Amino acid sequence: MVTLIDTRAPRDGAQRPRHPEKAHRPDKPMLPKPPWIRVRAPSSEGFLATRAIVRQNGLATVCEEAGCPNIGECWQKRHATMMIMGEICTRACAFCNVTTGRPLPLDAGEPQRVADAVAALGLEHVVITSVDRDDLEDGGAMHFGSVIGEVRRRAPETSIEVLIPDFLRKDGALARVVEARPDVLNHNLETVPGLYVRIRPGARYFHSLRLLQQAKEMDPSLFTKSGLMVGFGETRDEILQVMDDLRSADVDFLTIGQYLAPSAKHAEVKRYVPPEEFEDLRRVALAKGFLVVAASPMTRSSYHAGDDFRRLKAARAGGLAKA
Ligand code: SF4
Repeated sequence: MVTLIDTRAPRDGAQRPRHPEKAHRPDKPMLPKPPWIRVRAPSSEGFLATRAIVRQNGLATVCEEAGCPNIGECWQKRHATMMIMGEICTRACAFCNVTTGRPLPLDAGEPQRVADAVAALGLEHVVITSVDRDDLEDGGAMHFGSVIGEVRRRAPETSIEVLIPDFLRKDGALARVVEARPDVLNHNLETVPGLYVRIRPGARYFHSLRLLQQAKEMDPSLFTKSGLMVGFGETRDEILQVMDDLRSADVDFLTIGQYLAPSAKHAEVKRYVPPEEFEDLRRVALAKGFLVVAASPMTRSSYHAGDDFRRLKAARAGGLAKA
């Protein structure tokens, strides 16, 4: 069987495979999706309006690049997650649908266009993420800072959440982002440490964990957030250990969602975790001390991020009031 994995052509019109490192791999078995995994066709007026604003501003979104199943629902509410620094990533994670390759130079006009789009979308809360830019000396940290600064200027009422790369071997990069004062700093661990070699080969579990801890040490007022996908073959005990690790790093907010394979060339879904197991994980995580936990089959790190930010603030304020 031939599997087409280039589901979305690059917007620059170049003819190249999205995942050259995966193209030669044998197809993996694809489990049939259970009824609780639902994907609605995106067609609402809100969806079209959001897409028009994204296109007019020449922006990329992780919603499209990652083939997110929630795009119909999120874009109907104008919640688009901006993906900065291009559409080409220097990493090749086994779960990810973003194109791997050599990125283009940074676009100095991008911070302004992101800010314009945030203002045009009228967002109360925006999530800004990026591809990995191992090719840049600072991993793109200054560019993140510029985007945060422009959004603050253009849309001062909008709260800003950044979902950052791990800045591996980029000394000083995290500090640059924290100094730009986002409201929420998210970095996803994605999976349990024992699966890093297979799922996140370019990353290091303890580096990612330490990044989250350092962010909170640099600015204790910052909300920190991380996310896991389940269904790769991890055990419950391994997930609970990651929760403990994240609490030790003083992370406030945890998201847990079902991994969905973008193609038969990506990591295989070993199991669809039923909704009641997500609810169990949510309860356990709250008991371990996270301020907010979102756990469901369709949870993604930016899913309902604005509502969750309000809950985060209320939960911290409630804790302080009790103290
Ligand atoms: S969950 Fe996040 S990535 Fe997916 S469509 Fe919604 S905002 Fe975009």
